[in-house]
Amino acid sequence: MKRVSIFGATGSIGQNTIDLLRRQPEEFDVVALSGGHNIGQLAKDAIELQANIAVTAHDDRLDDLRRALAGSGIEVAAGQAALKEAAAHPAHWVMSAIVGIAGLPPGLAALEQGATLALANKESLVAAGPVLMDSARRNGARILPVDSEHSAIFQALAGEDISAVNRVIITASGGAFRDWPLNDLAGATVAQASAHPNWDMGQRITIDSASMFNKALEMIEAREFFDFQPDQIEVLVHPESLVHALVGFCDGALMAHVGPPDMRHAIGFALNWPQRRSLPVDQLDLAAAGQLTFREPDIARYPALRLARNVMAQRGLSGAVFNAAKERALDHFIAGRIGFTGMNSVVEEVLTRLSSENGLIDAEITLDSVGKADHLARQCADQLVLEQANRT
Ligand code: NAD
Ligand code: MG
Repeated sequence: MKRVSIFGATGSIGQNTIDLLRRQPEEFDVVALSGGHNIGQLAKDAIELQANIAVTAHDDRLDDLRRALAGSGIEVAAGQAALKEAAAHPAHWVMSAIVGIAGLPPGLAALEQGATLALANKESLVAAGPVLMDSARRNGARILPVDSEHSAIFQALAGEDISAVNRVIITASGGAFRDWPLNDLAGATVAQASAHPNWDMGQRITIDSASMFNKALEMIEAREFFDFQPDQIEVLVHPESLVHALVGFCDGALMAHVGPPDMRHAIGFALNWPQRRSLPVDQLDLAAAGQLTFREPDIARYPALRLARNVMAQRGLSGAVFNAAKERALDHFIAGRIGFTGMNSVVEEVLTRLSSENGLIDAEITLDSVGKADHLARQCADQLVLEQANRT
């Protein structure tokens, strides 16, 4: 039996992962499940999947979780340290599907015990790519990409010599506002930004798709995971969301990964790897789809893509700063403190201010320095939002 744990089990990726496990219960032994405030869901899944441990991220929900699992024999725990501890429990396969930098410590703990890490949590790779990749190497552990574009690249690279790759193209749906007049973007509401045309995902990544911060993170993720050069990484808007990525080789061939927009494909691929198994995803009817269209992204609409290029050029701790500034800008947008386009300004200004701080970006990338850069970037973003509020 394969021993598996899921961090972020109650979220969109987590629930899709559970959907797959549920279909092959005799093959998996569930070690740990983690969630946040949705104690009911966490407890229900822990009981159904007979998990050994259930962890909520929030200390003040421990009693609720304990009550919900009373008599089940399932161990309960709460808080960030407990998440790390649960990830250190021996497992063959660990899904990293917490949203945000909070996914980094459990992801690292899973690698340190040698587990295969199925990585949906792109934020940890953007902020601390070298820390994760080094840990995998040192511990003989493997990271498998779960982000659909990176799973697509990984699949297109199977059996290929990576030195023959001369470019990769990751596609973007264009998000909720791809056809809006540019001038209307500043007034876009949280509800409008939370409606994705093609994918059903958590709220934060859905808003990041509308702003293309998600694609910006994914460019950096591709850089960190596959070690491509920044100028080899291209983005195309592909409104149908059927081609997830293309890998270009030196002989001019482009290998495309095509499939319906259903995360269970990428999750299932990582779960069954190195085998391919049947998955409950629709078979794509290309004749019904009719056409596949592609266009260059408009940088005026999506400044996040320009910022990602700066981060890839700068490297060092700029990924950690970028991610943290983005996370805070998104918090402020969701809370109604800044507008939709204000997120770009905040992130850009944080990058500018912290890049001029001596030695910060160029410091060695360790878990500690990433934590420090993350903290400073959040502080700086909050400060900027406050300054802006005082001006208006
Ligand atoms: P979600 O919001 O639906 O779920 C997030 C999960 O993380 C929940 O279980 C929540 O309880 C937990 N969580 C939230 N904050 C936490 C914290 N501070 N500490 C510990 N746990 C916390 O998110 P999602 O859409 O499932 O995305 C999860 C990750 O996968 C993100 O990194 C996202 O970028 C990535 N991803 C998601 C999709 C998708 O289709 N949803 C696709 C590609 C990549
Ligand atoms: Mg993606």
